[in-house]
Amino acid sequence: MRRALITIAVAAALVSTTRAQTASGPPKLAVLIVVDQMRADYVTRFRGEWSSGLRRLLTKGAWFSNAAYPYMLTFTCAGHATVSTGALPHRHGIMQNTWFDRQSGKIVRCSEDDRPAGVGYGGSNGEGDSAARLLVPTFADQMRREKGARVVTLSLKARSAIMLAGQVADAVTWRNEALDGWQTSTAYGGAVAAVKAFVDANPVEADYGKPWIRTLPRGRYRYPDTLPGEMPPGGWSPVFPHVLTSRTGKPDAEFYTQWERSPYGDEYLGRMAAALAASFELGRHDTTDILGVSFSSPDLVGHAFGPLSEEVQDMYARLDRTIGTLLDRLDRLVGSDQYVVALTSDHGVSGVPEQLKLDGKNAGKLNIRALGEVVERAAAEALGPGKYVANGNYNDVYFEPGMYEKLKASPAALNAVVAELSKQPSVARVFRREELYDPSAIGSTDQTLRAAALSFVAERSGDLVVAMKPGWMFTGLATTHGSATDDDQRVPIIFFGRGIKPGEYREAASPADVTPTLAAIFGITMPQAEGRPLRSALAAPVSTATRP
Ligand SMILES: [Zn+2]
Repeated sequence: MRRALITIAVAAALVSTTRAQTASGPPKLAVLIVVDQMRADYVTRFRGEWSSGLRRLLTKGAWFSNAAYPYMLTFTCAGHATVSTGALPHRHGIMQNTWFDRQSGKIVRCSEDDRPAGVGYGGSNGEGDSAARLLVPTFADQMRREKGARVVTLSLKARSAIMLAGQVADAVTWRNEALDGWQTSTAYGGAVAAVKAFVDANPVEADYGKPWIRTLPRGRYRYPDTLPGEMPPGGWSPVFPHVLTSRTGKPDAEFYTQWERSPYGDEYLGRMAAALAASFELGRHDTTDILGVSFSSPDLVGHAFGPLSEEVQDMYARLDRTIGTLLDRLDRLVGSDQYVVALTSDHGVSGVPEQLKLDGKNAGKLNIRALGEVVERAAAEALGPGKYVANGNYNDVYFEPGMYEKLKASPAALNAVVAELSKQPSVARVFRREELYDPSAIGSTDQTLRAAALSFVAERSGDLVVAMKPGWMFTGLATTHGSATDDDQRVPIIFFGRGIKPGEYREAASPADVTPTLAAIFGITMPQAEGRPLRSALAAPVSTATRP
C-alpha cells in the first residue's frame, strides 16, 4: 500500500515536471477559425444554446465583445485577408471579393490567377486560384518562413481558404465552382495525397437525401420559421425540414447548392480539418503549425434566410457541436494545453430589407450595375453623348479611360454627376477617388470617409465610390453585407488555449488584431500589420514566474 502511494507520488511528480517543461514554450499549433458572417450579437443571442465547442471557447477563452472592422467594404475576401495579414484593405490590396481590372477590362475575382491550374479531387478541376493579388504576407507565410510551420487551410470558398493560407502552403482545399467536388491549384503544389484520401473516403454525396431538421426544442427559436423576404435555394421552401435532394433524383447542382447551405457543410469541414491535422501531424513536430478553417455555410444560410431566421439559429447550435468535436480531436492529437485557437468572422450581415421595411425603416435592394447606369446617364447629360462608364461593381463606379479626367476638367459636369448619384434613395455619400487617395482620409474624424478610405486601393477601386444608406444593399438574395454599419462591421473575436488569459474584454478591437496577437505569442514579426497584439488577453510568459 505504502509502496503504491510512493509510486503514485513519484508518477505525479514526473507528470508535473513534464507539464512544467512543456508549459514553457509557445503553443505547438495555431488554429485559425473564421465563421463566415458571424455577427457579433449572435454570441449574446445564441450562447445560451451552446454546450460544446463554442461554449468552451467563450467560457475558457478571451472574448472580445466589442470588435469591429474599421473599413466600409465588409466582404468575405477583404475580411479573410485582414484577419490573416493584420493589415487593412488599403494596404493588403483585397478591397472586395471582385473588382474591375482596368487592364483586362474585366471583373476579376480576388483569388483569380491565370498562371496556376486548378486541380480537382474527383469533380471538375476548377480555376487555378492563388493569393497572387494579396499584396502583403500572411501570418501563415511568416510562420512558415520564420518557424518552418506546416500550413493547412480549408473552406467551401476558394477565397477564404486561400487568403487564410497565403502564397505557399502544404494543403489549401476548397469546393470547385461547378460545386461538384473539392479542389486545390498548382499554386499550392497540386493534389495532396492526404486530402485525396479523405475526400475519397468521405463523399459529399453520402449526405444526399438527408434532412435538415431543427436541433433545439421548438420553444427555443425566437422568431417565426417564415419571415418576409426569405429566399431559400432551389428545391427548398422557407420552412423546416429542408431535405437535401434534387429533382433529377441524384446529386446535382441543386443538391450541392442545398448541401452548402446546410449544417452538413460545416460538419464536413470540421471532420476534414481534424483528419488533415492528424495526417499532417500538425503540432507534433519540432516547430509550430497552422490549421485554418473557414466555415462558409453560416454565410450562405444567412444570405438565404436572414439573421433572424430559425435556420441561422440552428446553424450555430450545430456549429457549437462541430467545433466541439474538432477541439476534442485536437486535444487528443496535440494535447489540450498545447495549442491556441483564434476565432473570428469576416463580416456581419444586415437585416432583410423586406423585414426592415415592415419596421418602418428605409431599406431596399439594388442590382450591382444600377449606380453605373445612373452615372452613365448623368455624364451624357453633362458632357454630351458618349460612353462614359466602363463598369459598375457594387459601390465602385469605373469610367472609361480618360473619361473621369474629362469630367474633372469640367467641375460643373463632375458635380452634376455626383449630385445625381447622391440623389438616389440608396445613397448616403459619394466619394471621388482623389478624396479617398488623400492620405489624410485614413486619419479623418469623419468615420464614413475614413472607412471608405481604408477600403480604397488606387489600382482596383472605382473613380467614384458610393457609401450606401443603412438597409440598402446590392443583392438578389434575402440579404447581404458590405456596408460600414454595426450590423456588417461588428464580429466576435475569441482566443482560447495556451498563452491566453480567459475573460470578457470590452476594449475596442479589430479583426486586424487577431494575427498580430498570435504573432506576439509565437514571437514572430508581421512587418506590414496595422493591427496590434491584444496584450490584455495574453497570459504572463511562464519564464517570468518566480519560484516560491
Ligand atoms: Zn463572408
